[in-house]
Amino acid sequence: MKQTNFHTHTSRCHHAFGNDEEFVRTAIQNGFEVLGFSDHACWKYDSDFVAHMRMKLDEFDDYKDSVLYLKDRYKKQIEIRFGLEAEYFPKYMDWLLDFCIENEIDYLIFGNHYYGTDEDHFYLGGAKGKYIKGYFDTCVEGMKTGMYAYLAHPELILRSTGGVITPEIEEGFHRICKTSQDYNVPLEFNVLGMQHNLRMGYEEYPHSRFWQIAGQYDVKAIIGMDAHEVGDLNKKWYDSALEKLSEFDVEIIDDIPSINYKKIKENKIKV
Ligand SMILES: [Zn+2]
Ligand SMILES: [Zn+2]
Repeated sequence: MKQTNFHTHTSRCHHAFGNDEEFVRTAIQNGFEVLGFSDHACWKYDSDFVAHMRMKLDEFDDYKDSVLYLKDRYKKQIEIRFGLEAEYFPKYMDWLLDFCIENEIDYLIFGNHYYGTDEDHFYLGGAKGKYIKGYFDTCVEGMKTGMYAYLAHPELILRSTGGVITPEIEEGFHRICKTSQDYNVPLEFNVLGMQHNLRMGYEEYPHSRFWQIAGQYDVKAIIGMDAHEVGDLNKKWYDSALEKLSEFDVEIIDDIPSINYKKIKENKIKV
């Protein structure tokens, strides 16, 4: 098993810290063979909305330049990939697809943080009422687009809930796992969440019940550090995550394919 991580943020999202090169050096020191940057994606909004948890559109060029520079500079020591973590915002997906093509993005990971678009302010972490179904519906629809290399923190709906799994949530977990199996979209075991669980003494995400359900399907699992500071790239956390994830009946993978966004666009046009 190669030690890899495709879930890394940078200070551009306004809630992560450290400079990009420190992330790379720390990854090398901690034994990572591949480091994927996947900062919270910018979007081109129809409104004048300004999001405070992601890079702005005009910050993207600096992000791209920095990642590609580090990729080249450290190529003998570590393989660096150029990605983004993005939501599924139906009205902006055509824009996002073009953006990925234009900028030769290696991959997106799917962080389903908001319902609709974040201009509507429906945060899905620990969402209640009709947004529980909304969370699962958008997870499934997003996974079917083929644009995401994997689904990050699939149990985000449990955030700040104490980890209580209602029958509705249990059913939603089955829907996610079935879609993961049918559309071959791996599921992430989120290490930042695992750190939080250990501090709190109970499970929110990742959640054992979710991974037991995942074990009933033919799904692939991947470890994602979700690093928001260099300390999150600690080998100790990676090893405990691997140990925990190995308790479940899922296939653990250590790599993701680059996604061919041009091809996705061509297929869309044909339909
Ligand atoms: Zn974040
Ligand atoms: Zn993330």
